[in-house]
Amino acid sequence: MNALSQAPQPVRTTCPYCGVGCGVLAKSDGAGGVVAAGDPDHPANFGRLCSKGSALGETLSLEGRLLQPMLRGNDGACSQVSWSAALDHSASELSRVIGRHGPGAVAFYLSGQLLTEDYYVANKLMKGFIGSAHVDTNSRLCMASSVAGHRRAFGSDTVPGTYEDLDLADLIVLVGSNAAWCHPILYQRIERNKRERGAKIVVIDPRRTATAEEADLFLPIAPGMDSALFAGLLVHLADSGLVNEDYVGRHVNGLAEALSGARRLAGSVTQTAAATGLLPGAVEHFFELFRETARVVTCFSQGVNQSAQGTDKVTSIINCHLATGRIGRPGMGPFSLTGQPNAMGGREVGGLANQLAAHMAYTPEDIDRVGRFWRAPNMAQREGLKAVQMFEAIERGEIKALWVMATNPVVSLPRAGALAAALKKLELFIVSDNTLSTDTLNAGAHVLLPAAAWGEKDGTVTNSERRMSRQRPFLPQPGEAKPDWWIVSEVARRMGFGDAFAYRSAADIFREHAALSAFENHGSRDFDIGAFAAIGDDAYDSLAPTQWPAPAGGAPAARFFADGRFFTSDRKAQMIAPRPPLPARPLSVEYPLRLNTGRIRDQWHTMTRSGLSPRLAVHSPEPFVEVNPDDAAAFGLEDAGFARVSSLFGSAVLRVVIAPGQRRGSVFAPIHWSHETSSHGRIGDVVAPDTDPYSGQPEAKATPVSIAPVRFRYSGFTLSQTPPSLPDGTWWARVAVSGGHGLLFATDAGIETWHEVAGCSPDEADGVAEYIDRERGLYRMARFADGGLEAALFVAPVEIAPRWDTVKALFEADSISDAQRRAVLSGRPADDLPDTGPTVCACFGVGLHTIRDAILTGAAADVDEIGKALRAGTNCGSCRPEIKKIISNELLAKAG
Ligand code: SF4
Repeated sequence: MNALSQAPQPVRTTCPYCGVGCGVLAKSDGAGGVVAAGDPDHPANFGRLCSKGSALGETLSLEGRLLQPMLRGNDGACSQVSWSAALDHSASELSRVIGRHGPGAVAFYLSGQLLTEDYYVANKLMKGFIGSAHVDTNSRLCMASSVAGHRRAFGSDTVPGTYEDLDLADLIVLVGSNAAWCHPILYQRIERNKRERGAKIVVIDPRRTATAEEADLFLPIAPGMDSALFAGLLVHLADSGLVNEDYVGRHVNGLAEALSGARRLAGSVTQTAAATGLLPGAVEHFFELFRETARVVTCFSQGVNQSAQGTDKVTSIINCHLATGRIGRPGMGPFSLTGQPNAMGGREVGGLANQLAAHMAYTPEDIDRVGRFWRAPNMAQREGLKAVQMFEAIERGEIKALWVMATNPVVSLPRAGALAAALKKLELFIVSDNTLSTDTLNAGAHVLLPAAAWGEKDGTVTNSERRMSRQRPFLPQPGEAKPDWWIVSEVARRMGFGDAFAYRSAADIFREHAALSAFENHGSRDFDIGAFAAIGDDAYDSLAPTQWPAPAGGAPAARFFADGRFFTSDRKAQMIAPRPPLPARPLSVEYPLRLNTGRIRDQWHTMTRSGLSPRLAVHSPEPFVEVNPDDAAAFGLEDAGFARVSSLFGSAVLRVVIAPGQRRGSVFAPIHWSHETSSHGRIGDVVAPDTDPYSGQPEAKATPVSIAPVRFRYSGFTLSQTPPSLPDGTWWARVAVSGGHGLLFATDAGIETWHEVAGCSPDEADGVAEYIDRERGLYRMARFADGGLEAALFVAPVEIAPRWDTVKALFEADSISDAQRRAVLSGRPADDLPDTGPTVCACFGVGLHTIRDAILTGAAADVDEIGKALRAGTNCGSCRPEIKKIISNELLAKAG
């Protein structure tokens, strides 16, 4: 079935999800499947995986995969074609558009999911051979503000920190980062430092997240005000005599200007508190912790980056580290936590529209250097359009041809619905992907190219600490799927650039990438992996995780900036005064709330992979909006009801979760749901397209919105072996279940409709059980076959939504007992199937009721004891904050 069933050893590879970059051992499960375990030798995770990584084996099904090249005909239908037909068509159409409209009419939209080698080839084709720099990536949505902040301060896009710094720091400040959910394995490392060494944790976030639960100090900052807080900190450090005059004098420019700018923003604790919406005592406490602790690491993520002032936020954080000389030394420094598995690799190859390859810039010298190295006939001479602007150019009809690789912009970009319509204007729309049906493909892609997926492809990725790791194949490439680098190279060859794209393997590309990084470098650029310019195929195959820099013939620098030398023209870092913080759009009477978007614990991006795992589906199965209780009361919302969240750009209908940790005046909604996985849950439709002027990163956390209740009469679920169909007007969300299809839904359709939807007929009497209570508005149907539950449909008034998890457990079982069969329609668990409650620990499937029982019976009194008793929280640990909350709630209830 797969390469592993014959392989004597597990295959070492790297997780395809977040920027932690955990090492994975892909092993055969002995039954034709694959299990993923943490690689104990990988320095990013030392054997641990989070819930998403642990469930990778459940995401490898070929169902729904794009396995053949396809072309869309004039009738809108797609038909299979040969690779040569698809590649010929792509190349000739690209050449036609370039010939008629110029290279600026062509754009590539890439992805942090691509491997470095794929990224390198796509970037080279566009910037060196087509002659346009309209190559951008979904990483623009995730960390472009960090790139811009690094380049302004350091003269290079250098992440100075390493994961080891998180072990050595005495204070870890997490700004706009829900690391407990979004970088769980790193967060466990931070927590261990707190437990074992007593490190303090400060969390700065408008929302009380799972990460905030563990913090020594939580600062619920007003949305967008981070640079005011760090400006206030800079003033405080200066006024406390903490500026390292010697260090600044030798290694930093711009202190006086940055400091006077900071004084204008937040010249005192009181002013800082007023600007940030924090209590003065809390501000003072933070300043004192930072002031008194030499070893400080400030980690930042999307809460900082996804802002119209993201670059200034990054700058204001870096300013505090530069002023105190807390950079380039163990256990200290600013640390950007990247979101995607290969956002860093994309930066290395120049996969952003405003960068050249190998961390070079759009200077005449760098354009000339890269052009000579590539022997490129047509080097792009200026920066290209960044993601949001690129899609706006498509909307205006200026870009005529677009190639999207390994990403789903119709879900993830701001104003997603409008962009879907804009894509219809393209003369040529190519998508290379793994998945047959995504919102982007369904927006009318003309050419569909089947790309190899994780487990099938071969190359490298770079994680948040600059560590390059191999992704290795352990499955055959199914159908006609091919690596992305091969697809791009074949198109390039057909466009007449064959000599420059004659790669035989990913190793060939890696060697060229390494050679370019060293080309005329001589220590002038941070990114140098020249040590691998002549790496052999076998050495590439067995390449161990390696941090860059790795220059040829020399020992790598012990640590970036340890010598106080940066990559600016005078080798000094630059401090810059941030602008006054202000979200791009003001609130109004019509749109009085701020929409904050983000990730949830057990899903990844647009769910095309993680959404296939039944284990990951149980924790947060529906698209939701978190609302503060006071806002909920003010807007007439009920917990577990529904609400329409609307902006100037679009709307979504989401399940309401009333959450005291949600800041008043803001609402939170997850980014994951698409029109493939929900009827109305695509939050990208609502997000404003405002961007940071330096980084071009969209402000995904501050869109002004309104919220209003949406009332449905009924809600329910259906589980079936064939895809179900629901009446028009039904709100639904797809959930992964083993052996079938699951939908959670809400509707106004009455009971008679559901009898029809269930498709029950009298002659099925033996196999079908139906329960109808018209008075109470209940409908339940279960269909049995071969000793198991084949299908179920449950509908109830919305205020008594039926539990789906207990029926799902029976649906997924190979066979069920008589007691279980009798209990199905009761809506309660059978006596021989314990009611474990909603899942808390996805790794070991431990439910809320089980944890509560352990607390109430005295079997466990803290998170570690719960771990010992039930295993919950002992694998990835990302449910530990939730378990802690459950314990404190139960103990409070017991005491009161
Ligand atoms: Fe994958 Fe989780 Fe590790 Fe991120 S923390 S790389 S999602 S296993």
